[in-house]
Amino acid sequence: MSSLRVIAIDGPAGAGKSTVARALAQRLGLEYLDTGAMYRAVTFAALRRGIALDDTAAVADLAASIDLVVGDDGVVVDGVDATAAIRTPEVTRSVAPVASNSAVRAELVTRQRQWARLRGGGVLEGRDIGTVVFPDASLKLYLTASPRTRAERRVAEAGGDVDEIEAAIATRDLADSTRADSPLREADGSVVVDTTGMSIVEVLDHIEALLRTT
Ligand code: C5P
Repeated sequence: MSSLRVIAIDGPAGAGKSTVARALAQRLGLEYLDTGAMYRAVTFAALRRGIALDDTAAVADLAASIDLVVGDDGVVVDGVDATAAIRTPEVTRSVAPVASNSAVRAELVTRQRQWARLRGGGVLEGRDIGTVVFPDASLKLYLTASPRTRAERRVAEAGGDVDEIEAAIATRDLADSTRADSPLREADGSVVVDTTGMSIVEVLDHIEALLRTT
């Protein structure tokens, strides 16, 4: 695993992980994997098939059997484009029980490690990349920003009421950081980057400077 060049990016919802991971991967000539899209895809598929999200065995079977392609251009679930469908408020609200299902996590972590091995590394972003998926990554980043800033960024991207979005983000952060399996936390040896008040270019320059010194 240590021969892989992996950059792990974790952090709470709306911290800018996807934007930063995509742009950083491009700068470094690596590929990028949005692992949150994988948890969303399993949630979407369960909802579509009418599988109860608290039926841990059924959701685990689904995660093991699903054909899932998460790429730069979008997300394909069992041959169907689900790029937009995995971002609906219904999926966002419903993802917590799927993300706390240990059998689902084991399956998706296996797929994430395989994805990186096939490519000799990559930029992976999520909640447990530096803690669980690649604890020996070349660089582990914990990206964060003030709750208000994170809510405002989401509103700028997708619209909505900033207070409602801030509350929804807080609910998701709480679920992600208090679940028993792989809770969101700063990995040992990770560098915390608080992006409040920083532009994307400033964040990227800062990370590149970190890469030069690590
Ligand atoms: O990153 P995004 O907000 O799209 O992730 C959706 C949800 O997927 C998160 O709130 C979290 O519950 C789950 N997730 C996870 N582990 C990851 C990535 C995402 O549990 N590595």
